[in-house]
Amino acid sequence: MVRLLLFYFVISFSIGISKSTAQSIKTSTTELSQIQLDSSLLPYFETLMPYFPELNEVYINVKQRKQMIPLTTTPSIGNVFRKKQNWKYTIAISTESLKFLNPITVKNLSDSSKIGVLGHELSHVSDFHTHGRGYMIKVFFGHISSKYLDRFEFETDHIAIKHGLGKYLYAWSTETSEKIKQNKFKKQGKERYMLPSTIVLYMKKYPEIYLN
Ligand SMILES: [Zn+2]
Repeated sequence: MVRLLLFYFVISFSIGISKSTAQSIKTSTTELSQIQLDSSLLPYFETLMPYFPELNEVYINVKQRKQMIPLTTTPSIGNVFRKKQNWKYTIAISTESLKFLNPITVKNLSDSSKIGVLGHELSHVSDFHTHGRGYMIKVFFGHISSKYLDRFEFETDHIAIKHGLGKYLYAWSTETSEKIKQNKFKKQGKERYMLPSTIVLYMKKYPEIYLN
């Protein structure tokens, strides 16, 4: 179970596999800047996008489908051959996961937690998009290592905090910790995703963003 927990938010590069096995949910789609998304998600992305001015012109397809991992952010494999301004990303949101993970799929989270976790995913996009191809390839191979993933996901939470999303990330971390008793498996200083107490510590590092 611990092992499984280690993987539950792993960003996935297995784009072909997930596409062929996952069932896309067809609902009304809309656009926000270059983001394709279900209209039900629009308020969350409208809240989030001002925190990510660097993604204003970036193509992101937000899909909802059945998949085991609650959320995945995937750079398109084709980015390797595309000019940077044409890079594309997919954020996939699970509508149905494993029984013990269902309580923390996006649809079952509070509004603040939804913004927190979607902000974490947009932080992945920001991270990829502010680096070059070499970084994308490094992350791809880095996924073999559990230790690498720990650092990678932790740093993604840090990126979200640097974007001003601390309170939303805190809401998400608190809700998921309560729902899946994550604290049993995570000690501060060794967690893959920041615990609420770690988020508070990191917010204090940025008094210019977090005034209180
Ligand atoms: Zn992540």
